[in-house]
Amino acid sequence: MSEELSRRSFIRGGAAAVAATAVGAAGVLSGCSSQDLSATGTAESQANENSKVPPAWDATVPEAWDREVEMLVLGCGIAGACGAVEGYDLGLDVLVVDAAPTITECCCTQSGGALCGCGTRIQEDFDVIDDVEVMIQDVRNDGGDLGDPEVIRAFCELSGETVDWLEDLGCDVIQNVSLNEPSHTIARTYNTNPPGNGLGWMEGLQGAIEERGIEVLSDTRAQKLYRDADGVVVGAHVEAKSGETLDIRATKGVLLAVGGLGNNVDMWNKHCLTMKELSSEAKRIVGAAPADVQGDGYRMLEEINGYCYPSPPNYGPGGVAVSNDGPASGILLPFNWKDSLIEVNKDGKRFNDESSFHVFYDLKTPLKQPEMWHVCIFDETARLGQNGQTNAQPIIDEATANGMDSVKTADTIEEL
Ligand SMILES: Cc1cc2nc3c(=O)[nH]c(=O)nc-3n(C[C@H](O)[C@H](O)[C@H](O)COP(=O)(O)OP(=O)(O)OC[C@H]3O[C@@H](n4cnc5c(N)ncnc54)[C@H](O)[C@@H]3O)c2cc1C
Repeated sequence: MSEELSRRSFIRGGAAAVAATAVGAAGVLSGCSSQDLSATGTAESQANENSKVPPAWDATVPEAWDREVEMLVLGCGIAGACGAVEGYDLGLDVLVVDAAPTITECCCTQSGGALCGCGTRIQEDFDVIDDVEVMIQDVRNDGGDLGDPEVIRAFCELSGETVDWLEDLGCDVIQNVSLNEPSHTIARTYNTNPPGNGLGWMEGLQGAIEERGIEVLSDTRAQKLYRDADGVVVGAHVEAKSGETLDIRATKGVLLAVGGLGNNVDMWNKHCLTMKELSSEAKRIVGAAPADVQGDGYRMLEEINGYCYPSPPNYGPGGVAVSNDGPASGILLPFNWKDSLIEVNKDGKRFNDESSFHVFYDLKTPLKQPEMWHVCIFDETARLGQNGQTNAQPIIDEATANGMDSVKTADTIEEL
């Protein structure tokens, strides 16, 4: 890990770092005055140059604020929860606002829960020798080299101490020593106990938030960011499901952590060309995010002329519909189970190297298949094997229980 960039220093600049990626025009950071920014050597001169130009955003802020805090965290998935805890531990007065009824209702809970870290205490205990350069290469490979190398480097350098930090906060961390993880060449994948999803990470963070007495306004959705005439994001307008509204001022920063595009297909169409193509062609789009994640961050940033750091999605298709209405009804079969299945297209032809994680994740390959149609095929021996029971059986059970026709069985290949 480089000395300049520890997880702590990254979070210490937290509000600044987030807003720096979020608010591009005039280079203004959330919660910092333009004077603070003059240290960068550009903001002051730019502000002078721009002083006669009307701001390219609606600079209205409320006449009176309903609440004032130092750090306002919008969204409490794993990103917001980590930010809130670290902000509090740095001595800030923190308020969290989350649209969901509880902290655990977020993408992390619905995820596979696998978190990677290089140079952790657990690796030390297992005598695993790791190297951050190898991790960087693994991550780049996984994403078909679509990711930003600098972001990947920062992520990898901070990853080990982040896993240790989560463990210190109370997450029951276990190493996935089986290395049944297609994406990494060294055992550096962790889950919480019991593995299978990311609930344990969120329960650990929930405990840390409660222990610290950090206030969380649940069932409350941020509707609008307030950006003042100097370009500083100074607060937010939030609305509870009960209808109550609040204008909350944040004197030191707003952490925007309301998740990605979620299940909002309109947002996909607007912000992601690949998904636009997918949603226009695909027979069915399977959502895999909680209902409250609707891409609000993109909308709110757009309304204040903010900048959103582009992040090409490379989460490939391969979802199996297992329920008609529940979120996270998609699961990526070959993601975990690559040794006993094949993927075929509508013509019954294989089109993919199922053992190659990053090729599977290259959206172009499935997109090129006739009608974007593809299925995973496996036999009874594979289903009854350990991997089949772990990765396929729960999906088959859930689909059957929900009366779905997405899993089909036949005695012969021809019939199938
Ligand atoms: C099926 C699946 C499997 C995955 N598997 C893995 C894995 O194994 N390993 C891995 O590292 N990653 C995995 N991921 C990705 C990972 O889960 C997410 O990247 C991560 O959890 C996102 O966290 P977040 O805090 O940024 O956003 P989210 O979890 O989306 O949290 C956003 C929060 O903001 C709230 N919110 C939304 N809008 C508003 C608003 N306007 N105002 C206030 N609150 C709002 C929501 O209620 C939610 O609580 C997976 C994702 C999915 C869907």
